[in-house]
Amino acid sequence: MKIITKQLNLKTKGAGDLIDITAQIQKNLEDSGLQEGNVTVFVIGSTAAITTFEYESGLISDLKELYEQLVPSNKTYAHDETWGDVNGFSHLRAALQGPSLVVPFISGRLILGTWQQVVLAEFDHRPRQRRIVLQFVGSIHPNAK
Ligand code: ZN
Repeated sequence: MKIITKQLNLKTKGAGDLIDITAQIQKNLEDSGLQEGNVTVFVIGSTAAITTFEYESGLISDLKELYEQLVPSNKTYAHDETWGDVNGFSHLRAALQGPSLVVPFISGRLILGTWQQVVLAEFDHRPRQRRIVLQFVGSIHPNAK
């Protein structure tokens, strides 16, 4: 059993930016040489999240609308008053969605549906530099210890 930790560095455009990171995770999995196990995808920071959905323009706008309905951005939250901040909504959306996802893999391939992408959700109101940790835990051969 091996543990391999990698990092993705991404620039986001700010509020509501949804970035498909599936191909980069698969590429890092191939580079690791691991065949069977799972990968934890974790975004560092309290105003972004990791999720999965069918990455197409309709759903992208549906999701943005859903977040807006659940946690409106044009409201003043206690956090904003505490810190003189404006991103209370960003923290709340991130807390709801969660910062990580675990994806299993077999034969060096992520087990995802054809219409199931892994997506970084940027909830902050301004562009950010994001670090995403990919921690692979697995074995080279299915029978190796
Ligand atoms: Zn804040």
